[in-house]
Amino acid sequence: MKMDKKKLESLFLQVQKPARYTGGEWNSVQKNAADMAVRFAFCFPDLYEVGMSHLGMKILYGLYNAQDDVWCERVFQPDTDMETLMRKNEIPLFGLESRDPIADFDFIGFTLQYELSFTGVLNMLDLAGVPLRSSERDERYPLVVGGGPCACNPEPMADFFDFFILGEGEEVNLEVNELYKKHKNAGYCKAAFLREAAQIGGVYVPSLYDVTYHEDGTVAAVTAKDGAPAVVRKRIVKDLDSMYFPEYFVVPYMGIVHDRAMSEIFRGCIRGCRFCQAGFIYRPVREKSVDTIDRQSRALCDSTGYEEFSLSSLSTSDYTQLETLLPRLLEWAEPQHTNMSLPSLRVDGFSEELANQLNVLRRSGLTFAPEAGTQRLRDAINKNVTENEIMETVSKAFHGGWSAVKLYFMLGLPTETEEDVVGIARLAHRVVDVYYQIPDRPKGRGVTVSVSASCFVPKPFTPFQWEPQDTMEQLHEKQRLLSSSVTTRKISLSWHDAQTSFLEGVLARGDRRLCAVIESAYKKGCKLDAWSEHFHFDVWMDTIREYGLDPAFYANRRRDENELFPWDHLDYGVTKRFLWRENQKAHKSCTTPHCRLQCSGCGASDFGGGVCFESR
Ligand code: SF4
Repeated sequence: MKMDKKKLESLFLQVQKPARYTGGEWNSVQKNAADMAVRFAFCFPDLYEVGMSHLGMKILYGLYNAQDDVWCERVFQPDTDMETLMRKNEIPLFGLESRDPIADFDFIGFTLQYELSFTGVLNMLDLAGVPLRSSERDERYPLVVGGGPCACNPEPMADFFDFFILGEGEEVNLEVNELYKKHKNAGYCKAAFLREAAQIGGVYVPSLYDVTYHEDGTVAAVTAKDGAPAVVRKRIVKDLDSMYFPEYFVVPYMGIVHDRAMSEIFRGCIRGCRFCQAGFIYRPVREKSVDTIDRQSRALCDSTGYEEFSLSSLSTSDYTQLETLLPRLLEWAEPQHTNMSLPSLRVDGFSEELANQLNVLRRSGLTFAPEAGTQRLRDAINKNVTENEIMETVSKAFHGGWSAVKLYFMLGLPTETEEDVVGIARLAHRVVDVYYQIPDRPKGRGVTVSVSASCFVPKPFTPFQWEPQDTMEQLHEKQRLLSSSVTTRKISLSWHDAQTSFLEGVLARGDRRLCAVIESAYKKGCKLDAWSEHFHFDVWMDTIREYGLDPAFYANRRRDENELFPWDHLDYGVTKRFLWRENQKAHKSCTTPHCRLQCSGCGASDFGGGVCFESR
């Protein structure tokens, strides 16, 4: 494909934030294209500042570029000003490192982090000059591959991708690369490559599966063909200490959402909160050792010059060696004035010790996620924290000098009643009271309690995959009730928009019939859907109905225990039987202990590693 790089450069001065498009950042990788066996375009279907904050992209970028004959480049969705200029000047979508058109690469890979980025995939393929549908792309085009959490139900995007990687990509991506090189040397045929790729564990080739539907719209059968496995199982990396982890990050020239070094401390989560997809699809928990985290964090700070790094995981305080790790990290971080942040702290994991150690770090606002306002509902969602624990924790934080606390809740959780909604406000009022009970609180400083209430979206591979999502009317009613229950200015309230959550709900549990809907909505102008200024709810709803589908069928319908789900031929380790058991326990407000207290037999021990084999 032709690319006028001079013309491209002239566009940089005509757009907002040109640093999104120029490339050339510190630690970005340059290679000689002519020497490469594989060129990989790693695409994040959202803006630069969002994608550049994503740890998974940094890992795979480093992993690919550590191979001598592979060059991986970063690609983001341009903002509308740049997109307009690119289309007007016939500049195809390009890799930031080489500024070559990605249509000339071997692979175009997308990470699917959230459903509202689906149209971003189509927009980027279109900008690249690559046909949207896999069936319209022959050997002249790159292979289009997807991964990330939304690949656990990739069916609404099945027609656009050649294959998906299920689970963790560190090992399987390299296996796919080797296979591709073999096919390239032997005279590449796309269909033959895909048939053989489907035999690699964790590789799902949607075109090798036929889906039929019952008259009521539910899935009747998913049938594998051409030797593809009937069920595709996700991949995990068993030993995180020997796993590749980059010791450098590309350092942006502009502000991004999370502009700091990030050190992954473990994968998975022991907890089993019933609403949380990540808590199930990343099982089992596997930890890195203190030595590994220390070495990798230090190397990252040295190579980037970052003055802040965060410890990344789903629940930082569940790291078993935290009290050894923190002093180890502070030993070198403190003298060089490097700040450490610990996101994802659980309320019950905030010990006095931890509070003291955090005190020497930058004192930013603390966030906790009780998720529900009453004990009954917290038990139903298996959020094993009590009101007393929450109060003790905020009290410790206030004693430690904090005066701002953010509390995260969800509205629309299964079994929720008015009492639960009012309970959110009641709990926030109690937190305010705790602050004013502290005798030596800072003079003249008030407390700020920020309550953020998102709308619950039932997701595949969770115990709530059978549950109806609240309708938008129900959610609006609950938002009004919550708002009227807050009676002090010390509590600030914010919530997610119910319309975007509704669309997320439709797409999350969608099937292949939504592919045509997504394509049509995109062609009518839907893109950057996660940005409220670009979100066109009515266009989406009209388009779904144009295709004879009902959005409520996907979002607001209670599923029968034995319904075949569009994602049932994909295996993320947790069994459907276990998830149903958890669903039934939720309706009885009955909790399940976490993995380190007792194994509940979720199925993930079949992977042969991690917490399942720790002695209890
Ligand atoms: S098999 Fe048991 S220990 Fe392992 S992840 Fe599942 S519940 Fe936890």
